[in-house]
Amino acid sequence: MPMKTCSYSCIYCQLGRTIRTSILRRRYCEPEEVARVVERALENVDRVDYLTFVGDGEPTLYSLLGKAATLVSREFGYRVALISNASLVWRRDVREDSTVFDFVSMKLDAATPSVFRRVNRPDNAIRISAIISGLEELSKEISGILSIETVLVDGVNDGSWHADLLAEALRKVEPYVVYINAPIRPPAEKWVRVPRVDRLRIFAERLSMYLGKHRVILLPLAEIDEVLARASTIESLLEIAKLHPVPLDLALSLLKREHGDKAMEVLRRYLERGSLTIVKYRGREYIRARQQT
Ligand code: SF4
Repeated sequence: MPMKTCSYSCIYCQLGRTIRTSILRRRYCEPEEVARVVERALENVDRVDYLTFVGDGEPTLYSLLGKAATLVSREFGYRVALISNASLVWRRDVREDSTVFDFVSMKLDAATPSVFRRVNRPDNAIRISAIISGLEELSKEISGILSIETVLVDGVNDGSWHADLLAEALRKVEPYVVYINAPIRPPAEKWVRVPRVDRLRIFAERLSMYLGKHRVILLPLAEIDEVLARASTIESLLEIAKLHPVPLDLALSLLKREHGDKAMEVLRRYLERGSLTIVKYRGREYIRARQQT
């Protein structure tokens, strides 16, 4: 499994801690390679809303992101979406790459430097003020949809005072919609907790007061990913586990479709080889791809 490459080391990251944060944009692969991967993935899919760019970490660290998205959208004729942590949105080239997309989701969990450091643990070179200004710029430049995702962690960034500061920042960004989310899967730090539902609601209501009710959506804390329902081979589960921990019971029932009674045996081989590991969170067991060190 590749090592996660990210500019943050969020306390709730489902991929574990970032071993070394980076803000260096690199040519990880050629756009044509991305197109071939998409082509193979499309062989097993009958309906596509968006082709979404999301990395084992932060996708804007890929220096040819805009070129790859343009190529994929032209070659396959689908709309393209980007899920980013917004850490590099202050850079003009990153904003130019982002404007290629029809739908852009940017993370904003913090409105102040201290909350930013606590929740996202960013690379030293990144400033929250630059990110907020970058988002304001992007909002003016983009012709597609700009959405914001905010992940709330109990006792860290879910206070009403923080909701007000975040709302002030977002009022200038003017996103199409803000999604409020919570760490429902195993986080990087064991002490991370999902806020109480009433606190999540109060936070969403305060944002709504500034941004409008229709612009703030509190995501249901559903556990099952739609995409999981399509996975039945160990390879497809491994791919998903690189991005999202998969509930162990769900993984086994999916593997049973192909391997019957041998499902546990197949999974155990991967656990023994060290490419997968089991973690416990909120009373449930998950399989997660092990990070290379
Ligand atoms: S949650 Fe996303 S932004 Fe945060 S460390 Fe993990 S991959 Fe990076």
